[in-house]
Amino acid sequence: MDKRRENLSSLINDDLLSQCIHCGLCLSVCPTYVTTNLERSSPRGRLRLIKEYADDKNKLGNIFEDEMDFCLGCRACETACPAGVKYDVLHNETKYLLSKDKKVNLKKILIKFFLNKILANPSNLKLYSRILRTYQQSWFRKMLHSSNILKNISSKLFLIDELTPQISKISSDEIIDEITLPISKHIHNVTFHVGCIMNVGFAEINLDTIEVLKKSSCKITTPKNQYCCGALHAHNGELKKAKELAKNNIDLFRNYEYEYLIANSAGCGTFMKEYYELLKDDKDYLKSAEIFSSKIRDISEFIYDNDIKFNSGKFNDSVTYHDACHLVHGQGIFEQPRQIINDICDKNFREMHNSTFCCGSAGIYNILRQNDSQIFLDQKMQNIIKTNADVVITGNPGCIMQLRYGVKKNNLNLKVKHTVSFINEQKGI
Ligand code: SF4
Ligand code: SF4
Repeated sequence: MDKRRENLSSLINDDLLSQCIHCGLCLSVCPTYVTTNLERSSPRGRLRLIKEYADDKNKLGNIFEDEMDFCLGCRACETACPAGVKYDVLHNETKYLLSKDKKVNLKKILIKFFLNKILANPSNLKLYSRILRTYQQSWFRKMLHSSNILKNISSKLFLIDELTPQISKISSDEIIDEITLPISKHIHNVTFHVGCIMNVGFAEINLDTIEVLKKSSCKITTPKNQYCCGALHAHNGELKKAKELAKNNIDLFRNYEYEYLIANSAGCGTFMKEYYELLKDDKDYLKSAEIFSSKIRDISEFIYDNDIKFNSGKFNDSVTYHDACHLVHGQGIFEQPRQIINDICDKNFREMHNSTFCCGSAGIYNILRQNDSQIFLDQKMQNIIKTNADVVITGNPGCIMQLRYGVKKNNLNLKVKHTVSFINEQKGI
Protein backbone atom coordinates (compact mmCIF):
# COMPACT_ATOMS: atom_id res chain seq x y z
CA MET A 1 0.00 0.00 0.00
CA ASP A 2 1.47 3.38 -0.91
CA LYS A 3 2.11 5.96 1.80
CA ARG A 4 -0.76 8.25 0.78
CA ARG A 5 -3.32 5.45 0.87
CA GLU A 6 -1.91 4.32 4.20
CA ASN A 7 -2.25 7.80 5.74
CA LEU A 8 -5.74 8.42 4.40
CA SER A 9 -6.84 4.94 5.41
CA SER A 10 -5.83 5.67 8.96
CA LEU A 11 -8.06 8.75 8.84
CA ILE A 12 -10.95 6.75 7.43
CA ASN A 13 -10.43 4.05 10.05
CA ASP A 14 -10.36 6.75 12.69
CA ASP A 15 -13.99 7.35 11.74
CA LEU A 16 -13.24 10.83 10.51
CA LEU A 17 -14.21 10.29 6.90
CA SER A 18 -16.78 7.61 7.52
CA GLN A 19 -18.58 9.78 10.08
CA CYS A 20 -20.30 11.75 7.29
CA ILE A 21 -23.94 10.66 7.03
CA HIS A 22 -24.54 12.72 3.83
CA CYS A 23 -27.30 14.76 5.46
CA GLY A 24 -26.31 17.94 3.62
CA LEU A 25 -26.76 20.27 6.61
CA CYS A 26 -23.32 21.70 5.91
CA LEU A 27 -24.18 22.85 2.38
CA SER A 28 -26.00 26.09 3.15
CA VAL A 29 -23.24 27.35 5.47
CA CYS A 30 -20.33 26.56 3.15
CA PRO A 31 -19.28 29.74 1.32
CA THR A 32 -17.72 27.85 -1.62
CA TYR A 33 -20.87 25.78 -2.14
CA VAL A 34 -23.22 28.73 -1.72
CA THR A 35 -21.20 30.64 -4.33
CA THR A 36 -20.81 27.84 -6.92
CA ASN A 37 -23.72 25.47 -6.22
CA LEU A 38 -21.34 22.62 -7.05
CA GLU A 39 -21.50 19.49 -4.91
CA ARG A 40 -17.76 18.96 -5.28
CA SER A 41 -17.19 22.41 -3.71
CA SER A 42 -19.20 21.47 -0.63
CA PRO A 43 -17.86 19.85 2.56
CA ARG A 44 -19.72 16.61 1.74
CA GLY A 45 -18.39 16.65 -1.82
CA ARG A 46 -14.83 17.26 -0.66
CA LEU A 47 -15.04 14.36 1.79
CA ARG A 48 -16.04 12.14 -1.12
CA LEU A 49 -13.13 13.50 -3.19
CA ILE A 50 -10.70 12.70 -0.36
CA LYS A 51 -11.96 9.11 -0.34
CA GLU A 52 -11.64 8.85 -4.12
CA TYR A 53 -8.17 10.33 -3.99
CA ALA A 54 -7.18 7.74 -1.42
CA ASP A 55 -8.37 5.01 -3.78
CA ASP A 56 -6.88 6.31 -6.99
CA LYS A 57 -4.86 9.49 -7.06
CA ASN A 58 -4.76 9.79 -10.84
CA LYS A 59 -8.51 9.46 -11.36
CA LEU A 60 -9.26 13.01 -10.22
CA GLY A 61 -6.53 14.96 -12.02
CA ASN A 62 -6.19 18.59 -10.95
CA ILE A 63 -9.77 18.85 -9.68
CA PHE A 64 -8.86 17.38 -6.32
CA GLU A 65 -5.97 19.72 -5.62
CA ASP A 66 -8.01 22.69 -6.81
CA GLU A 67 -10.93 21.83 -4.54
CA MET A 68 -8.65 21.41 -1.53
CA ASP A 69 -7.15 24.84 -2.28
CA PHE A 70 -10.56 26.41 -2.98
CA CYS A 71 -11.78 25.42 0.50
CA LEU A 72 -11.35 28.37 2.85
CA GLY A 73 -10.72 26.20 5.88
CA CYS A 74 -13.39 28.30 7.62
CA ARG A 75 -14.87 25.33 9.52
CA ALA A 76 -18.47 26.53 9.14
CA CYS A 77 -19.20 22.94 8.09
CA GLU A 78 -18.00 21.67 11.49
CA THR A 79 -20.41 23.98 13.31
CA ALA A 80 -23.31 22.73 11.18
CA CYS A 81 -22.44 19.03 11.14
CA PRO A 82 -24.64 16.88 13.43
CA ALA A 83 -22.27 13.92 13.02
CA GLY A 84 -19.24 15.79 14.36
CA VAL A 85 -17.08 15.39 11.25
CA LYS A 86 -13.68 16.90 12.01
CA TYR A 87 -13.32 18.45 8.60
CA ASP A 88 -10.33 20.65 9.51
CA VAL A 89 -8.16 17.69 10.55
CA LEU A 90 -8.92 15.92 7.26
CA HIS A 91 -8.28 19.06 5.24
CA ASN A 92 -4.90 19.73 6.91
CA GLU A 93 -3.78 16.10 6.52
CA THR A 94 -4.82 16.06 2.88
CA LYS A 95 -3.02 19.33 2.13
CA TYR A 96 0.07 17.85 3.75
CA LEU A 97 -0.09 14.77 1.53
CA LEU A 98 -0.69 16.92 -1.52
CA SER A 99 2.27 19.15 -0.70
CA LYS A 100 4.47 16.04 -0.72
CA ASP A 101 2.96 14.86 -4.03
CA LYS A 102 3.21 18.12 -5.89
CA LYS A 103 6.02 18.86 -8.29
CA VAL A 104 8.25 21.74 -7.22
CA ASN A 105 7.32 25.11 -8.74
CA LEU A 106 8.09 28.75 -7.95
CA LYS A 107 4.82 29.31 -6.07
CA LYS A 108 5.49 26.31 -3.83
CA ILE A 109 9.08 27.44 -3.17
CA LEU A 110 7.91 30.95 -2.23
CA ILE A 111 5.17 29.66 0.11
CA LYS A 112 7.64 27.31 1.81
CA PHE A 113 10.19 30.10 2.16
CA PHE A 114 7.62 32.48 3.67
CA LEU A 115 6.26 29.89 6.11
CA ASN A 116 9.45 28.13 7.14
CA LYS A 117 12.18 30.74 6.80
CA ILE A 118 10.29 33.90 7.73
CA LEU A 119 7.22 33.19 9.89
CA ALA A 120 8.80 30.32 11.78
CA ASN A 121 11.98 32.25 12.54
CA PRO A 122 11.38 35.28 14.83
CA SER A 123 14.64 37.07 13.97
CA ASN A 124 14.12 36.62 10.24
CA LEU A 125 10.54 37.82 10.60
CA LYS A 126 11.75 41.00 12.29
CA LEU A 127 14.45 41.54 9.68
CA TYR A 128 12.03 41.16 6.74
CA SER A 129 9.46 43.31 8.55
CA ARG A 130 11.98 46.14 8.91
CA ILE A 131 12.76 45.92 5.20
CA LEU A 132 9.05 45.93 4.43
CA ARG A 133 8.45 48.92 6.69
CA THR A 134 11.25 50.84 4.93
CA TYR A 135 9.53 50.12 1.61
CA GLN A 136 6.10 51.07 2.99
CA GLN A 137 7.44 54.45 4.16
CA SER A 138 9.39 55.20 1.00
CA TRP A 139 8.71 57.61 -1.88
CA PHE A 140 9.20 54.60 -4.14
CA ARG A 141 5.98 52.97 -2.89
CA LYS A 142 4.09 56.27 -3.15
CA MET A 143 5.32 56.64 -6.73
CA LEU A 144 4.37 53.04 -7.61
CA HIS A 145 0.85 53.65 -6.34
CA SER A 146 0.22 57.23 -7.53
CA SER A 147 1.41 56.40 -11.06
CA ASN A 148 -0.46 53.07 -11.11
CA ILE A 149 2.81 51.42 -12.26
CA LEU A 150 2.47 48.51 -9.83
CA LYS A 151 -1.16 47.91 -10.82
CA ASN A 152 -0.20 47.87 -14.50
CA ILE A 153 2.78 45.56 -14.00
CA SER A 154 0.85 43.05 -11.89
CA SER A 155 -2.61 43.36 -10.37
CA LYS A 156 -1.70 40.39 -8.12
CA LEU A 157 1.34 42.16 -6.67
CA PHE A 158 -0.72 45.32 -6.27
CA LEU A 159 -3.33 43.46 -4.23
CA ILE A 160 -0.66 41.83 -2.02
CA ASP A 161 0.79 45.28 -1.41
CA GLU A 162 -2.65 46.67 -0.49
CA LEU A 163 -3.47 43.79 1.84
CA THR A 164 -0.17 43.84 3.74
CA PRO A 165 -0.58 45.51 7.14
CA GLN A 166 1.36 48.67 7.93
CA ILE A 167 4.36 47.25 9.78
CA SER A 168 4.62 48.69 13.30
CA LYS A 169 7.59 50.96 14.13
CA ILE A 170 8.61 48.67 16.99
CA SER A 171 7.40 45.13 17.44
CA SER A 172 5.26 44.61 20.52
CA ASP A 173 7.60 42.16 22.26
CA GLU A 174 10.22 44.91 22.40
CA ILE A 175 7.82 47.19 24.30
CA ILE A 176 5.91 44.79 26.54
CA ASP A 177 7.75 43.91 29.78
CA GLU A 178 8.15 40.26 30.67
CA ILE A 179 6.06 40.92 33.79
CA THR A 180 3.23 43.48 33.81
CA LEU A 181 1.37 44.13 37.04
CA PRO A 182 -2.38 44.83 37.32
CA ILE A 183 -3.60 48.38 37.86
CA SER A 184 -5.54 47.52 41.00
CA LYS A 185 -5.95 44.25 42.89
CA HIS A 186 -4.29 41.09 41.60
CA ILE A 187 -6.74 38.26 40.88
CA HIS A 188 -5.49 36.36 37.81
CA ASN A 189 -2.09 35.06 36.68
CA VAL A 190 -2.05 34.99 32.90
CA THR A 191 0.52 34.65 30.14
CA PHE A 192 0.22 36.31 26.74
CA HIS A 193 1.07 34.97 23.29
CA VAL A 194 2.25 37.88 21.12
CA GLY A 195 1.89 35.99 17.81
CA CYS A 196 4.00 36.50 14.70
CA ILE A 197 2.05 38.84 12.41
CA MET A 198 0.36 40.43 15.45
CA ASN A 199 3.77 41.16 16.93
CA VAL A 200 5.21 42.99 13.91
CA GLY A 201 2.11 44.19 12.05
CA PHE A 202 -0.40 44.90 14.82
CA ALA A 203 1.79 45.88 17.78
CA GLU A 204 -0.85 48.41 18.89
CA ILE A 205 -3.46 45.64 19.30
CA ASN A 206 -1.04 43.66 21.48
CA LEU A 207 -0.45 46.78 23.59
CA ASP A 208 -4.24 47.28 23.89
CA THR A 209 -4.51 43.67 25.05
CA ILE A 210 -1.96 44.24 27.81
CA GLU A 211 -3.80 47.42 28.89
CA VAL A 212 -7.16 45.63 29.03
CA LEU A 213 -5.65 42.73 30.99
CA LYS A 214 -4.01 45.19 33.42
CA LYS A 215 -7.45 46.74 34.02
CA SER A 216 -8.87 43.23 34.48
CA SER A 217 -6.83 42.51 37.64
CA CYS A 218 -4.26 40.39 35.79
CA LYS A 219 -0.59 39.92 36.40
CA ILE A 220 0.62 39.27 32.85
CA THR A 221 3.71 37.29 31.97
CA THR A 222 4.84 37.76 28.38
CA PRO A 223 7.74 35.37 27.76
CA LYS A 224 10.50 36.66 25.49
CA ASN A 225 11.50 34.78 22.32
CA GLN A 226 8.07 33.34 21.56
CA TYR A 227 7.25 31.32 18.44
CA CYS A 228 4.60 31.49 15.76
CA CYS A 229 1.74 29.09 16.68
CA GLY A 230 2.09 27.12 13.41
CA ALA A 231 -1.52 27.49 12.21
CA LEU A 232 -0.63 28.86 8.77
CA HIS A 233 1.89 26.04 8.35
CA ALA A 234 -0.68 23.34 9.12
CA HIS A 235 -3.28 24.88 6.80
CA ASN A 236 -0.80 25.04 3.93
CA GLY A 237 0.75 21.59 3.95
CA GLU A 238 3.67 22.24 6.35
CA LEU A 239 2.42 19.95 9.10
CA LYS A 240 5.89 18.94 10.28
CA LYS A 241 6.92 22.55 10.84
CA ALA A 242 3.60 23.19 12.61
CA LYS A 243 4.38 20.36 15.05
CA GLU A 244 7.88 21.69 15.64
CA LEU A 245 6.51 25.17 16.43
CA ALA A 246 3.86 23.71 18.74
CA LYS A 247 6.56 21.89 20.71
CA ASN A 248 8.66 25.07 20.90
CA ASN A 249 5.72 26.97 22.39
CA ILE A 250 4.89 24.19 24.85
CA ASP A 251 8.52 24.05 26.01
CA LEU A 252 8.67 27.81 26.44
CA PHE A 253 5.41 28.31 28.35
CA ARG A 254 5.92 25.32 30.65
CA ASN A 255 8.58 27.40 32.43
CA TYR A 256 5.85 29.65 33.82
CA GLU A 257 2.99 29.22 36.26
CA TYR A 258 -0.30 30.59 35.01
CA GLU A 259 -4.05 29.99 34.93
CA TYR A 260 -4.69 31.08 31.34
CA LEU A 261 -2.68 31.76 28.22
CA ILE A 262 -4.37 34.68 26.47
CA ALA A 263 -4.52 34.88 22.66
CA ASN A 264 -5.95 37.81 20.71
CA SER A 265 -5.75 36.23 17.26
CA ALA A 266 -8.60 33.82 16.49
CA GLY A 267 -6.46 31.64 14.22
CA CYS A 268 -3.63 31.28 16.76
CA GLY A 269 -6.02 30.67 19.67
CA THR A 270 -7.88 27.92 17.83
CA PHE A 271 -4.73 26.19 16.71
CA MET A 272 -3.13 26.29 20.16
CA LYS A 273 -6.37 24.96 21.72
CA GLU A 274 -5.90 21.96 19.43
CA TYR A 275 -2.19 21.22 19.98
CA TYR A 276 -3.31 18.08 21.82
CA GLU A 277 -4.89 16.88 18.56
CA LEU A 278 -1.86 17.87 16.48
CA LEU A 279 0.50 15.99 18.80
CA LYS A 280 -1.78 13.04 19.57
CA ASP A 281 0.75 10.55 18.20
CA ASP A 282 3.69 12.05 20.08
CA LYS A 283 4.02 10.21 23.39
CA ASP A 284 6.59 12.70 24.72
CA TYR A 285 4.35 15.72 24.18
CA LEU A 286 0.74 14.54 24.36
CA LYS A 287 0.29 15.18 28.10
CA SER A 288 1.97 18.59 28.06
CA ALA A 289 0.05 19.51 24.88
CA GLU A 290 -3.23 18.72 26.65
CA ILE A 291 -2.29 20.93 29.62
CA PHE A 292 -1.09 23.71 27.31
CA SER A 293 -4.26 23.61 25.18
CA SER A 294 -6.60 23.56 28.18
CA LYS A 295 -5.27 26.93 29.35
CA ILE A 296 -5.72 28.86 26.10
CA ARG A 297 -8.37 31.59 26.20
CA ASP A 298 -9.31 34.13 23.59
CA ILE A 299 -9.27 37.60 25.13
CA SER A 300 -13.06 38.01 24.64
CA GLU A 301 -13.68 34.60 26.20
CA PHE A 302 -11.51 35.46 29.21
CA ILE A 303 -13.34 38.76 29.80
CA TYR A 304 -16.78 37.15 29.42
CA ASP A 305 -16.05 34.07 31.54
CA ASN A 306 -14.69 36.18 34.38
CA ASP A 307 -17.59 38.62 34.20
CA ILE A 308 -15.31 41.63 33.73
CA LYS A 309 -17.36 44.71 32.85
CA PHE A 310 -16.33 47.67 30.73
CA ASN A 311 -19.31 50.04 30.75
CA SER A 312 -18.29 53.19 28.96
CA GLY A 313 -21.22 55.50 29.61
CA LYS A 314 -22.13 57.56 26.55
CA PHE A 315 -21.51 55.98 23.17
CA ASN A 316 -22.67 57.46 19.88
CA ASP A 317 -21.19 55.35 17.06
CA SER A 318 -23.13 52.39 15.69
CA VAL A 319 -21.25 49.11 15.71
CA THR A 320 -21.44 45.80 13.90
CA TYR A 321 -19.45 42.61 14.44
CA HIS A 322 -17.86 40.21 11.96
CA ASP A 323 -17.31 36.70 13.35
CA ALA A 324 -13.78 35.52 12.54
CA CYS A 325 -14.20 31.90 11.37
CA HIS A 326 -11.66 30.56 13.81
CA LEU A 327 -13.35 32.29 16.71
CA VAL A 328 -16.94 31.29 15.95
CA HIS A 329 -16.43 27.94 14.19
CA GLY A 330 -13.02 27.00 15.61
CA GLN A 331 -13.73 27.93 19.24
CA GLY A 332 -17.51 28.32 19.42
CA ILE A 333 -17.15 31.93 20.56
CA PHE A 334 -20.24 33.84 19.40
CA GLU A 335 -22.01 35.38 22.36
CA GLN A 336 -18.94 36.58 24.28
CA PRO A 337 -17.73 39.46 22.05
CA ARG A 338 -21.35 40.55 21.40
CA GLN A 339 -22.03 40.77 25.12
CA ILE A 340 -18.86 42.83 25.69
CA ILE A 341 -19.64 45.18 22.78
CA ASN A 342 -23.28 45.52 23.83
CA ASP A 343 -22.26 46.45 27.37
CA ILE A 344 -20.20 49.29 25.94
CA CYS A 345 -22.34 50.59 23.10
CA ASP A 346 -25.76 49.93 24.58
CA LYS A 347 -28.38 50.13 21.82
CA ASN A 348 -25.97 50.97 19.01
CA PHE A 349 -25.10 47.39 18.06
CA ARG A 350 -26.35 46.24 14.64
CA GLU A 351 -26.17 42.58 13.74
CA MET A 352 -25.15 41.96 10.12
CA HIS A 353 -26.59 39.31 7.80
CA ASN A 354 -24.35 36.21 7.57
CA SER A 355 -21.94 37.55 10.18
CA THR A 356 -20.45 34.06 10.52
CA PHE A 357 -19.59 33.75 6.80
CA CYS A 358 -15.89 33.99 5.93
CA CYS A 359 -14.62 37.37 4.67
CA GLY A 360 -12.20 35.63 2.27
CA SER A 361 -9.06 36.33 4.27
CA ALA A 362 -8.59 32.75 5.53
CA GLY A 363 -4.90 32.80 6.43
CA ILE A 364 -3.03 33.40 3.17
CA TYR A 365 -6.01 32.43 0.97
CA ASN A 366 -6.44 36.09 -0.02
CA ILE A 367 -2.90 36.03 -1.42
CA LEU A 368 -3.06 32.58 -3.03
CA ARG A 369 -6.61 32.70 -4.45
CA GLN A 370 -7.17 36.36 -5.00
CA ASN A 371 -10.19 36.18 -7.32
CA ASP A 372 -12.13 33.81 -5.07
CA SER A 373 -11.14 35.77 -1.98
CA GLN A 374 -12.48 38.99 -3.51
CA ILE A 375 -15.86 37.36 -4.18
CA PHE A 376 -16.20 36.49 -0.48
CA LEU A 377 -14.96 39.94 0.54
CA ASP A 378 -17.50 41.66 -1.72
CA GLN A 379 -20.35 39.61 -0.20
CA LYS A 380 -19.14 40.50 3.30
CA MET A 381 -18.80 44.20 2.50
CA GLN A 382 -22.36 44.32 1.13
CA ASN A 383 -23.64 42.88 4.39
CA ILE A 384 -21.60 45.35 6.42
CA ILE A 385 -22.77 48.31 4.30
CA LYS A 386 -26.41 47.32 4.86
CA THR A 387 -25.98 47.75 8.63
CA ASN A 388 -24.97 51.39 8.11
CA ALA A 389 -22.57 50.98 11.04
CA ASP A 390 -19.70 53.38 11.80
CA VAL A 391 -17.44 50.66 13.18
CA VAL A 392 -16.96 46.98 12.36
CA ILE A 393 -15.33 44.92 15.08
CA THR A 394 -13.65 41.55 14.72
CA GLY A 395 -11.16 39.32 16.57
CA ASN A 396 -8.56 38.24 14.03
CA PRO A 397 -5.68 40.07 12.30
CA GLY A 398 -6.35 38.43 8.92
CA CYS A 399 -9.97 39.65 8.96
CA ILE A 400 -8.82 43.14 9.95
CA MET A 401 -6.46 43.33 6.94
CA GLN A 402 -9.11 42.00 4.59
CA LEU A 403 -11.92 44.24 5.85
CA ARG A 404 -9.67 47.33 5.80
CA TYR A 405 -8.96 46.57 2.16
CA GLY A 406 -12.73 46.17 1.61
CA VAL A 407 -13.29 49.60 3.16
CA LYS A 408 -10.71 51.14 0.82
CA LYS A 409 -12.03 49.29 -2.22
CA ASN A 410 -15.58 50.52 -1.55
CA ASN A 411 -14.47 54.01 -0.52
CA LEU A 412 -16.29 53.80 2.79
CA ASN A 413 -16.10 55.88 5.91
CA LEU A 414 -15.95 52.91 8.25
CA LYS A 415 -13.49 51.95 10.97
CA VAL A 416 -12.29 48.35 11.38
CA LYS A 417 -11.20 47.48 14.91
CA HIS A 418 -10.13 44.53 17.00
CA THR A 419 -12.47 43.84 19.94
CA VAL A 420 -9.72 44.56 22.46
CA SER A 421 -8.81 47.90 20.86
CA PHE A 422 -12.47 48.88 20.90
CA ILE A 423 -12.59 48.14 24.64
CA ASN A 424 -9.37 49.97 25.40
CA GLU A 425 -10.44 53.10 23.52
CA GLN A 426 -13.45 53.70 25.73
CA LYS A 427 -12.98 56.53 28.18
CA GLY A 428 -13.50 55.79 31.83
CA ILE A 429 -12.48 52.15 31.57
S1 SF4 B 1 -14.09 24.71 5.66
FE1 SF4 B 1 -15.53 26.29 4.92
S2 SF4 B 1 -15.17 26.41 2.70
FE2 SF4 B 1 -14.21 24.49 3.42
S3 SF4 B 1 -15.78 22.93 3.16
FE3 SF4 B 1 -16.02 23.68 5.26
S4 SF4 B 1 -17.56 25.34 5.13
FE4 SF4 B 1 -16.83 24.91 3.04
S1 SF4 C 1 -23.27 18.03 7.81
FE1 SF4 C 1 -21.68 16.51 8.37
S2 SF4 C 1 -22.67 14.54 8.12
FE2 SF4 C 1 -23.98 16.02 7.05
S3 SF4 C 1 -23.21 15.97 4.91
FE3 SF4 C 1 -22.08 17.61 5.95
S4 SF4 C 1 -20.18 16.63 6.67
FE4 SF4 C 1 -21.64 14.96 6.18
